[in-house]
Amino acid sequence: MATKKVKNKVKKVKPKAKIKKAKKAAVKHEKKIVIDTNKLLKLEEARKYVIDVAGEKGLEVFEFLISKGEMEENMLAKKLKFEKANAIRKFLYRLYNKNLVSYRKVRKNNKAWYTYFWKANPEKLVFIIKEMYEEEIKQTKKSIELNKAEDFYVCDICNRRYDVNEALQNDFRCKNDGGVLTHIESGKILEDKQSRIDFLNKKLHALDQLVK
Ligand SMILES: [Zn+2]
Repeated sequence: MATKKVKNKVKKVKPKAKIKKAKKAAVKHEKKIVIDTNKLLKLEEARKYVIDVAGEKGLEVFEFLISKGEMEENMLAKKLKFEKANAIRKFLYRLYNKNLVSYRKVRKNNKAWYTYFWKANPEKLVFIIKEMYEEEIKQTKKSIELNKAEDFYVCDICNRRYDVNEALQNDFRCKNDGGVLTHIESGKILEDKQSRIDFLNKKLHALDQLVK
């Protein structure tokens, strides 16, 4: 094989003005979504998700930020009775990793350090749970389709099984004894899956109701 050197260095130059413009547009399009946080925090799945991410203490931080709005980090630590301001960061970062909180840093009076202001993003929690439900619905629908393909026929005399093609070829009569082939659908399984989908759709609807 001939050695050919391919130059695939891609230069991506974005003029600064363009970036600024894009950023501005992004901010403009970010619509503020208001969530009924009282209802949200009562949802078991919402609480469970936050606890899985950041523990019981993390949920406490999240709930507190929701109730108080934006708060400076040291104040937040003090209010929640953390021994050191540092101790609360562990929880804030875990929440931050899932976008459940965000921060704003401010340098005061030209001091060398920043002051951090944290706020909760309850709308992100709604989106995350919605996505989880939507994904499960998608997977369940897929498995319903697969189950349908596994439908079969069974002889009413000897119980021999036939797949759809076989049954067709034999005019829906058993090869052994001429018994009638009855269509068996994996009915119960499909029913269960469908009711799970209905249940999740109701949950999704309830989540939509949280958006004011
Ligand atoms: Zn038979």
